[in-house]
Amino acid sequence: MDSEFDVIVLGMGPGGEVAASRLLDAGRKVAVVERELIGGECGYWACIPSKTLLHPPALLAATRGAAGITGAALDWADASAYRDTMIRHLDDAAQVDGYRERGATVFKGAARITGRAAGRIRVQVGDDELTADHLIIATGTTPVLPQLPGLEDITVWTNRETYTVRELPHRAVVVGGSAVGVETATFLAGFGVETTLIQRGGSLLSREEPRVGELARQHLEAAGVHVLLGASPARARREGDDSILVLESTEKDTDSPDPAAASEVRADVVVFATGRRPRTEELGLDAVGIEPDDHGAIPVDASCRAGEGVWAIGDVNAVMPFTHVAKYQGRIAADSILGTARTAHYDGIPRVVFGIPDIACVGLTHAQARSEGLAVESVELDVAAALARPWTQEREPEGHLGLLADTNRRVLLGAWAVGPEAGEWIHYAALAIRAGIRLEVLRDQVAQFPTFHEAYLAALDLFES
Ligand SMILES: Cc1cc2nc3c(=O)[nH]c(=O)nc-3n(C[C@H](O)[C@H](O)[C@H](O)COP(=O)(O)OP(=O)(O)OC[C@H]3O[C@@H](n4cnc5c(N)ncnc54)[C@H](O)[C@@H]3O)c2cc1C
Repeated sequence: MDSEFDVIVLGMGPGGEVAASRLLDAGRKVAVVERELIGGECGYWACIPSKTLLHPPALLAATRGAAGITGAALDWADASAYRDTMIRHLDDAAQVDGYRERGATVFKGAARITGRAAGRIRVQVGDDELTADHLIIATGTTPVLPQLPGLEDITVWTNRETYTVRELPHRAVVVGGSAVGVETATFLAGFGVETTLIQRGGSLLSREEPRVGELARQHLEAAGVHVLLGASPARARREGDDSILVLESTEKDTDSPDPAAASEVRADVVVFATGRRPRTEELGLDAVGIEPDDHGAIPVDASCRAGEGVWAIGDVNAVMPFTHVAKYQGRIAADSILGTARTAHYDGIPRVVFGIPDIACVGLTHAQARSEGLAVESVELDVAAALARPWTQEREPEGHLGLLADTNRRVLLGAWAVGPEAGEWIHYAALAIRAGIRLEVLRDQVAQFPTFHEAYLAALDLFES
């Protein structure tokens, strides 16, 4: 097998795939290295199975709200069989063949960087030693579990067990109230699992506007999830088939239904959605003079360059842990290698939680804008009260849109939307923020009637000036 390349792509999740494809299309000699499955975490255990499994309960909720549909029901056997198709039955043979046909040399195995020789970077994969002018590191992240006494005695799941599950548990506890925790609780409860969600802080989705967390909680509770805020597991134990978490209260001022009253939760499985750590520990980064930060992430410049001839893209650099960002950075790094210097900009990149309904955010929060010293004004629109579209779909619709504007520059800084398909219509705000479109221009835009996009016009009218 060849051992000398223009570029080695290490890790073939969405970031690595986009970079490798672009380089192959440009005729470069590329080696791709993947220790598990081409497609990465996203394709098999994260984005794809979660969105596939969240859709049926979301659709069921929509049909229950709609007039003229009766008899809709969930079918787990069918949903999970389709999930298996979507995750290719955890088999990437077609992807391996596809990359080979496109001219890549594919190495299956864990790679380790071993150093530099004559200006080239050396990488070891099993018995193979590869060299290249450029190395793109796209190794993603791995879940972090809390140090909990008794953890080894209980049934612990991460996203991997959750999204490849064949037989649903009767009861589940989800620990962690960020996007992954909220989606996981939504999926499990949607398929009838008795679900408790535990969040250490006083609100869900704590990086977003507090109002977003509040709405997320209302929708989860309406879907039957028992939400415990201000509570954290202190230890774990098993009793028969039951996995038990002993909780401690972490917030005095939470308005949660008394965390102390639920000092223990009992379930068949405990799903930890408690954060992720970049996979850098065994990469041999020191061999090329790269030092990860305290969280294990690879520091990069605006072109995703981590060092001479070394690039780091996607979750491993911890800039924004999303597939669309990994893919964007894949394009940035590949183009820079191909000689078109590009820098990444992170304004106006959406952050969507695929709950029921969608919870979509973009840009700055009020607190972030204030900490940057910006003069801001925010508005919130009751979308159902203002528009026709929600009523054409549901008998008792709900939806909310929040906008945050810079009152000096007269542009949008941030937006959030909680409502049907909000993950689609947030892109209007995303583009407005990224392009710095002035409020006057946005106000003059004409949206199709009746659509959710009309919410922006109604919300913009709520700004004072
Ligand atoms: C449950 C869940 C749901 C999510 N849903 C969404 C969503 O809907 N939308 C969204 O934008 N984001 C979502 N994310 C985040 C998304 O999965 C990540 O942002 C995305 O996978 C990052 O892509 P990546 O290419 O950086 O890494 P990954 O997808 O993690 O791929 C990294 C690859 O590198 C390989 N690798 C690691 N070390 C080595 C090594 N030493 N040698 C060779 N190969 C190696 C791994 O095996 C893996 O295949 C979700 C995450 C989770 C956990």
